[in-house]
Amino acid sequence: MSSKYMHALQDIAHQLNLSFHQEMQTIYGEFNDYKMVLLPSKETQFFTLKLSLKEKGELPNSESIQRVIDDSKVIKNSQVQGHLVHYVLKAGRITKATTGEKLKEALDRITQFLKTEQFTSCCQDCGIEGAESFYNVSGIPTICCEDCFKLYTDELIAMNQVEEEKQDNFVAGLVGALLGSLVGVAAIVLLGQLGFVSALSGLLMAVCSLKGYELLGGKLTNKGMITTGIIMVMMVYFGTRLDWAISIARFVPEASFVMAFRVLPELISEGFIEGSDFYFDLTLVYVFTALGAIPTIIAMRKNKKTKYESYRMSA
Ligand SMILES: [Zn+2]
Repeated sequence: MSSKYMHALQDIAHQLNLSFHQEMQTIYGEFNDYKMVLLPSKETQFFTLKLSLKEKGELPNSESIQRVIDDSKVIKNSQVQGHLVHYVLKAGRITKATTGEKLKEALDRITQFLKTEQFTSCCQDCGIEGAESFYNVSGIPTICCEDCFKLYTDELIAMNQVEEEKQDNFVAGLVGALLGSLVGVAAIVLLGQLGFVSALSGLLMAVCSLKGYELLGGKLTNKGMITTGIIMVMMVYFGTRLDWAISIARFVPEASFVMAFRVLPELISEGFIEGSDFYFDLTLVYVFTALGAIPTIIAMRKNKKTKYESYRMSA
């Protein structure tokens, strides 16, 4: 995430007198007696305002909730789901200086309206008032009471345990990794024939092989990761040799591509082909594959961690 974007969010949080959670990229806190979460969307430049409410002691009614939208340029849409109320706010580009000001006006307007209509903040699950706080549940900012949070956590612990105990299907995973690596081989050959060794081939080799294992094998275990690594090493060599064999067959009309593939090592050892050129190409693809594999594995591990994570957000 660009630091300019993060700084813009921090500035907005500051302007609204709310907190900013860096990891979750979420603005949250209490505004005008209402607990709220403001979720930015980098793609659409919209904010989703999340509130947990009771309307005169009951579940909120979607018709009353949407009345505040009328003739507002910033408040665009609303959605009600149990106690949860979402408003879509369009306040301009997130990095724009006036965005914070427009959001503040919208929040003032919404909270004033909620006060007049006797809405109160509550736990989004059990509806108890006054005990709610902010929690991260599976990467989702949640407004709930401590008891409900405990229930969430217990559920996540149980789900994580099931996941941990789940065995991978090694043979299916192997097939997945092989199929994925073929995408990498195709990229090495196609891009190689276009005349360049590309970082894209290495990245595709790594991502498709690892995801292939996970997809068909159920989950990427350490054993699966090592095996996929071996497959990648073999397939990068195979792809590069294939690429070279096609080039030889193209330039030497009497040599068939199959023959060129078979005798390539001899052609190198006998000096017909400059070995250093071949090994340079090969090394380059290995480097690119490693550069693709490492962040992919880190991202896969992080996703898994986020899925089962829950904690209290401060403030
Ligand atoms: Zn609760």
